[in-house]
Amino acid sequence: MSDLGIQYPLMEHFYTIQGEGKYSGRAAYFLRIGGCDVGCVWCDVKESWDKNLHPETSIDAMLKPILESQTDFVVITGGEPAMYDLNPLVNALHANNIYVAIETSGAYEVMGDIDWFCLSPKKFKMPVDSAYKSADEFKVVIYHPSDFEWAEKQTTLLRDDCELFLQPEWSKTEQLLPKIIDYVKQNPKWRISLQTHKFMNIP
Ligand code: SF4
Repeated sequence: MSDLGIQYPLMEHFYTIQGEGKYSGRAAYFLRIGGCDVGCVWCDVKESWDKNLHPETSIDAMLKPILESQTDFVVITGGEPAMYDLNPLVNALHANNIYVAIETSGAYEVMGDIDWFCLSPKKFKMPVDSAYKSADEFKVVIYHPSDFEWAEKQTTLLRDDCELFLQPEWSKTEQLLPKIIDYVKQNPKWRISLQTHKFMNIP
């Protein structure tokens, strides 16, 4: 174990199936770290915003159920997990041969040797430049038809090998999915991401 006395405000943790993006369908242990100042109007985890509502949790306490689950894949999400120095947590996961993905708005520079960097930009607080270069996956939530152009403009900032996903905002899926389907057919560098965990009724 490798505690170092470091703690993070852990809102929830659970073993489930990753529902979105590149690793959709893969068993994954989620660590949802509280605290976020991005302020998305459609945020579906607003209870994550205030870090003080969530218990400071040691790395050892986080590792225990992860190792018991026997997974080799952890997704660090939030809230906005990049508000914290993730080096100690990521190093501890790597020491246990776990592949580490992050889901971040990119509003802060990520501190930690992340294996899979999913950048999901938010208009309310744009990504820092380094986030575009670090992104392995660029997942844009489409909430309004103008978001296609907004997403497209940012692709010039990404690495050539970054994988591109468009995902309908959950409450607008019925209205926006046909537009996303048309857009991806005309712009096949993009793929569609759906929140399949919500269809499966799992966390
Ligand atoms: Fe919610 Fe994520 Fe936006 Fe923060 S960045 S407000 S957690 S959707």
